[in-house]
Amino acid sequence: MKPAAFAYAKARSLDDAIRLLGEHAGDARLLAGGQSLIATLNMRFSHPSLLIDISDLAGLDGVRVAGGLVEIGAMTRHVTLERSSDIAKHAPLIARAMPHIAHPAIRNRGTLGGSLAYADPAAELPACLVALDGEVEIAGAAGRRRVKAEAFHKGLFETDLGPGEILTAVRFPAASGATRVGFSELARRHGDYAIVGLAATAKASGSALGDVRLVYFGVGATPVRARKAEAALAGGNIDAAVAALDLDPEDDIQASGAVKRHLAGVLLRRVAKQLTEPAA
Ligand code: FAD
Repeated sequence: MKPAAFAYAKARSLDDAIRLLGEHAGDARLLAGGQSLIATLNMRFSHPSLLIDISDLAGLDGVRVAGGLVEIGAMTRHVTLERSSDIAKHAPLIARAMPHIAHPAIRNRGTLGGSLAYADPAAELPACLVALDGEVEIAGAAGRRRVKAEAFHKGLFETDLGPGEILTAVRFPAASGATRVGFSELARRHGDYAIVGLAATAKASGSALGDVRLVYFGVGATPVRARKAEAALAGGNIDAAVAALDLDPEDDIQASGAVKRHLAGVLLRRVAKQLTEPAA
C-alpha cells in the first residue's frame, strides 16, 4: 500500500521543529530514522498531514560521558551506539542489546529517540533505559522537562510525550567497577522483535548483588519490572527468583501468555548467571 498524501518540512532547528509541531497540533509527525513511521504510513495506520524531518538537526545526537552520567542525544542512530567505545565502556547493557535490534540496514537509520517514542512493547531500548534507572529529556514550547524512564512509557505505543513535544536526550548513571549487567531475549529469528526479553543491572557487593533491576519486554504494554524476583535474586537464590516471577503476559501474535511466562523464567536463569558470573 502507499501512504496517504502528506506535506513535508525539514526542521532547521529544534525550536523550528517545536514551532511546526505547535502549528499543526496533533496532525503532524516527527520523522527521525523513518524505520517505524514510514511502515505505519504505508499501511495507513497513521495519516498525518505533515511530516517534520528532524533527521539532520544539529546537537541532538552523540554520546557524552561526564560527571558520572552518560548522555545520549535522541537522534543518535542505533549503529552509532553499536560502534561506540564510550557505550561499550560506560553503558555495557546497551552495547549488549544493540545487536538484537532489527538488522544492520535498520540500525543504520533508526534512532534511540525514535525507538523510545514509538514505544513498541517488544523493543529493547525502553527496557534497557528502565534497567539503567535513566531519564528522558523532553523539549516543548513551555521549555524542557525530565521524566524518569520508568514513568515515560504509559501504555501500548503510548508515552508521556505531549502534543508539540520532542524527546531530545536520555541520561543514566555510567557503569562503575561494581556494575553488573545482563541481557537476553528470545525471538523467532535473529533481528525480529523479541517474543520475550530481559534487561538487567545490579551492583556487586562482595559475593552478593545489590540494586537488582530486572526489566522485561514483550510481556506487557510497557517495560515491566519483576520486583519480587529482584528481591529474591539479591538474596542470591536463582530458583527463588524464578519462583517469585509474577508476570502475567497476555497472548499476542508471537506466543501465548503461558509460553511467555515460561520463557521469562528461562531468560531469568540466563541473565542471573550473567549478573553473578560476569565474563572476565
Ligand atoms: P521513526 O520511524 O522516524 O519514528 C517513530 C515514531 O517516533 C514516530 O511516531 C515519530 O514521530 C516519533 N519520534 C521519532 N523521534 C522522535 C523524537 N525525538 N521525539 C518525539 N517523537 C519522535 N526496534 C526494536 O527496538 N527492536 C527490533 O527488534 C526491531 N526490529 C525491527 C524490524 C524491522 C523489519 C523494522 C522495519 C523495524 C524494527 N525495529 C525494531 C524498529 C527500529 O528500531 C526503529 O528504527 C525504531 O523503532 C524507530 O526509530 P526511528 O528513528 O526509525 O523512528
